Amino acid sequence: MTNTDVLIIGCGAAGVAVAREFAHYNIKVTVVDKNSDVGGMQQRPAALS
Ligand SMILES: Cc1cc2nc3c(=O)[nH]c(=O)nc-3n(C[C@H](O)[C@H](O)[C@H](O)COP(=O)(O)OP(=O)(O)OC[C@H]3O[C@@H](n4cnc5c(N)ncnc54)[C@H](O)[C@@H]3O)c2cc1C
Repeated sequence: MTNTDVLIIGCGAAGVAVAREFAHYNIKVTVVDKNSDVGGMQQRPAALS
């Protein structure tokens, strides 16, 4: 397991945005998702209809 300070569950828009903020302050962050792609609902337009 990678050494990390913060673990974010979910790689949707919120997870990516928060991860970017942590990285900006040089805080080690890891994002995990149950799916293999990035973007959550925005990556799956069918989920929005
Ligand atoms: C009907 C509808 C239409 C929309 N239209 C637009 C639009 O036109 N333009 C726009 O910009 N926005 C639109 N939105 C909003 C946009 O889709 C959401 O605001 C945005 O995707 C939310 O991001 P999120 O990161 O909060 O959640 P999500 O996108 O849901 O991401 C959550 C992530 O967490 C993961 N996850 C969940 N549970 C677990 C678990 N137990 N373990 C690991 N991973 C997990 C999921 O796989 C997912 O990748 C729409 C939303 C809806 C409902």
